[in-house]
Amino acid sequence: MSHVITELCLRDGGCVAVCPVACIVPGKPQEKWPLYYIDPNTCIDCGACVPECPHGAIFPKTEVPDDYIAGGYEILSAPLGTARFDKEYEAFTYEGEPVKILAARKTEAGEHIDLTPAIQTNREFFESGPGYLSVD
Ligand code: SF4
Ligand code: SF4
Repeated sequence: MSHVITELCLRDGGCVAVCPVACIVPGKPQEKWPLYYIDPNTCIDCGACVPECPHGAIFPKTEVPDDYIAGGYEILSAPLGTARFDKEYEAFTYEGEPVKILAARKTEAGEHIDLTPAIQTNREFFESGPGYLSVD
């Protein structure tokens, strides 16, 4: 199994430092891969990253919700060009560096969101995307 980062991720990088096997990496190019991603072949399912995420974006693979009920305060990130993700999100990373997500949107309170596509997207990042070894 592994843990999975969903589109609730806002690239603050807070989870990276706590991973004992260094398997969490930022997606690059950011426009195509807006989340941080977990290498499913390296993750040991220790769970240390889950409480570190200020946005509640990380779940064990088998517990990624297909019916996440939004509180209306969350920001979702997506690849550039994704329909309805037409806002920009700007903030700072865990280490104080500026972060900008070009395609984002705010949730609506009570909105039902399927976060499970992140499971496949995460795998695609490592199988057909830039992957772990080529990330800076
Ligand atoms: S569950 Fe543990 S090993 Fe897997 S990504 Fe999170 S911190 Fe790393
Ligand atoms: S701590 Fe959460 S928001 Fe920050 S990079 Fe990790 S998954 Fe994304």
